[in-house]
Amino acid sequence: MQPLVDRYGRVATDLRVSLTDRCNLRCTYCMPAEGLDWMPGDDQLTDDEVVRLIGVAVQRLGVREIRFTGGEPLVRRGLVDIVRRTRALDPEVEMSITTNGIGLARTAGALAEAGLDRVNVSLDTVRPETFREITLRDRFDDVVEGLAAAEAAGLGPVKVNAVLLRGVNDDQAPELLQWCLERGYQLRFIEQMPLDAQHGWSREGMVTADEIFGRLDQVFTLTPASEPRGSAPAELFLVDGGPATVGVIASVTRPFCGDCDRVRLTADGQVRNCLFARTESDLRAALRAGASDEALADRWLVAMAGKAAGHGIDDPTFLQPDRPMSAIGG
Ligand code: SAM
Repeated sequence: MQPLVDRYGRVATDLRVSLTDRCNLRCTYCMPAEGLDWMPGDDQLTDDEVVRLIGVAVQRLGVREIRFTGGEPLVRRGLVDIVRRTRALDPEVEMSITTNGIGLARTAGALAEAGLDRVNVSLDTVRPETFREITLRDRFDDVVEGLAAAEAAGLGPVKVNAVLLRGVNDDQAPELLQWCLERGYQLRFIEQMPLDAQHGWSREGMVTADEIFGRLDQVFTLTPASEPRGSAPAELFLVDGGPATVGVIASVTRPFCGDCDRVRLTADGQVRNCLFARTESDLRAALRAGASDEALADRWLVAMAGKAAGHGIDDPTFLQPDRPMSAIGG
């Protein structure tokens, strides 16, 4: 076993696997209303190829956590089978998905049975009309049903991820938290990042962690949770003394790159050592050219060694990656 260590001594043990760049929502901060030019089918890794690369990561490179994402991972037809085969590779690896929850009501049971541990569901509002405004789709009820089904299937603790947008839902932070508390879901706010295909992000426009605290403080008492944060992206706070918590992922205003333990595999088989990386390493080409597992692991090690110290959003030379979030895997 050779760990995925970079030149700053960080070790990547958490692999985000994007299974598709397609999505059935059009969240305005992520994707244009008309969608994007989807990845050609041949470019996308097959189920066998995905499982083989996960096997390399888990069995040779010390990866201990797998999170399936996208695009929307639930639109990938082979998802349940990929989950089952990943579980067969290693009974201990922690396995989760990040999803918008549409279709989860139908698949939560099968995913749990196949060996999935947890879900993170993205939900930015609990008002159906704001949901439509943000996602351009009328699917709020489906997400609510999906959340309940995930909980019922034992895919907990269910986490809810929310992005706040100025003038759209930034005044809704307390009601979203209240809604999650009532259902036992763990809410985490994510600062909006410059990763949208439309390049609509601006520092002035984004809602900062400080603003989120300001909104929540008007209704709740937040105290820092005592458990060590480790490599977790979310800063956790006890709500009204606990035990319930709320998290804030302040990737922009309080970056946590020094503790990053993540690595990403895109749906077309490219290793990305950072969400904001401007280079990738092509495992698909090597795999399809007949590379051995050992050779694939070697490539992966080289890709990780070159990870930058930080995402550099504050750097005057910062350039947004060419791939939007939906094609990287959030
Ligand atoms: N479709 C799945 C979902 O909705 O969770 C997985 C992919 S989605 C890209 C993953 C997460 O990224 C979602 O929680 C979404 O809100 C978040 N996201 C997308 N674009 C973002 C951006 N520009 N800044 C911060 N978070 C973003």
